[in-house]
Amino acid sequence: MTDALRRCEKCNEVKPLQFYYSESSTICNYCRDEKFRVKKKKFMAIDMNIRELKPKLGFVSIIKNDAKSSRKIPYRAALKLIEEGLAKVIYPDMIYDLVDNESLLLDANYTCHYCGGYGDTIDHVVPTSKGGADVIENKVCSCEECNQLKSDMDYKNFKSIFDENGHKLGKRIARERYGTKGKTKGVTKDISGNKELKRLPTKEEKLDNLIDAAFKKSKW
Ligand SMILES: [Zn+2]
Ligand SMILES: [Zn+2]
Repeated sequence: MTDALRRCEKCNEVKPLQFYYSESSTICNYCRDEKFRVKKKKFMAIDMNIRELKPKLGFVSIIKNDAKSSRKIPYRAALKLIEEGLAKVIYPDMIYDLVDNESLLLDANYTCHYCGGYGDTIDHVVPTSKGGADVIENKVCSCEECNQLKSDMDYKNFKSIFDENGHKLGKRIARERYGTKGKTKGVTKDISGNKELKRLPTKEEKLDNLIDAAFKKSKW
């Protein structure tokens, strides 16, 4: 592709552009991952009481186990996750998802629940956009294609686009039957709430700032 080089701002090493997350990133993938590892460790060390959780306009942020992204969920849903031991409070309006998606994929042997192919994304059986909870019982391993194609389709409807051997009947048939629109590259709005689909650096940077600001405000 290209043999362009770039110097990482963090480790100061000169590496090919392929070692960087995106064209615009100034730190290498290793340093970027290290940043999330540190963040993850930090979150694991914090343990606040459930009573200290104060929602903002009825919502709290939930940060994923990889410490890379967050989303807002209703206060009541957050309480349920904490009570079930699936999340913990790390800041007055933030909880941390204790469910490790990576081990879920490992348990599934990286096999797509729908088509049986290689899968490394998490799909919500009941889409979060339709009230499905972001809990382990509602998550399956899925390939990227099935995940995008399913979108916020009902589980039963989606299952029916596979033949008895688990072979997909094709996107065209799926669209004809259920009217789902195939997502195109560059889609920035993720209606399913599944952030694994598209990792947008800008969103992450926004989140990083948010977390950093939150920690600056807090006493730790
Ligand atoms: Zn680096
Ligand atoms: Zn699949």
